[in-house]
Amino acid sequence: MKKKILILGGTTEASALIQSCVDHVNYDLILSLAGVTKNPVLPPQVTARIGGFGGVVKMAEWMQGNNIHAVVDATHPFAQQITSNAYKAAHIASVPYLRLERPAWQKEPGDIWHEVKTVEDAVLKLGKDPLRVFVTIGRKELLPFKNGVVSHYYWIRSVDRPDECYLPRHAQLIQAKGPFDEADEIAFLKQHQIDCIVSKNSGGQTVYAKISAARKLKIPVLLIQRPRMESMPRVDTWQQAQQWILQI
Ligand code: NAP
Repeated sequence: MKKKILILGGTTEASALIQSCVDHVNYDLILSLAGVTKNPVLPPQVTARIGGFGGVVKMAEWMQGNNIHAVVDATHPFAQQITSNAYKAAHIASVPYLRLERPAWQKEPGDIWHEVKTVEDAVLKLGKDPLRVFVTIGRKELLPFKNGVVSHYYWIRSVDRPDECYLPRHAQLIQAKGPFDEADEIAFLKQHQIDCIVSKNSGGQTVYAKISAARKLKIPVLLIQRPRMESMPRVDTWQQAQQWILQI
């Protein structure tokens, strides 16, 4: 009988892992997405379920009810709630659990990083003098910018359009999905005379070009640090996660 593997997704690593396992005859893959992205690309040959589970206990029940053999949590490094829930639910359901999390970016010579813990801290750090700010933290956590100093001018890039009610007064929206190219990022930063970038330390290559572009142009980056996660079995790459699946 095929083993059912639940992959919690929403990242390029989840997609790569699925591609690497999809033709394996021993496994049935179930991709779970939060339902945040409006038009997600769903890989063919994979069962997809979309939307929350309803918390830890419901997720554990879902795993047991669906005979899940193992869980790979490949959600985004900042998706703290689902990771905590999945780890606990897998424990309750006695299902092996692995966290697949890409490493954070490391500071390189020339980087002008100001590391902050939260979006609110980043907004405080912007100060009061008017700045031209490039914001790349997704569309759901923009309210602190609206509630902050009104003098700044923002360029906000996200995959889906943010709700108007979260937007600061002076905001231009850019709807775009990575991967992004360094030459394009440099051109963008120059064109709009960006003074400062606000980013999460997401890690990975797909959206790294803004960081290397900022280094080249000597533009400061307010870099939001990753949330602290509990200790759990984890790997850095989809290749390691694939090996783990093949061994269970
Ligand atoms: P979160 O705060 O950790 O999770 C909030 C709730 O959303 C969870 O408790 C769960 O609901 C549901 N959920 C999240 N991911 C899910 C998944 N893969 N499958 C089923 N339910 C899921 O998550 P978030 O930070 O809002 O991120 C949501 C999704 O977007 C994640 O899957 C993540 O991989 C992706 N993403 C996040 C970011 C980011 O910066 N946070 C960036 C890129 C992509 P229940 O409690 O009802 O089960």
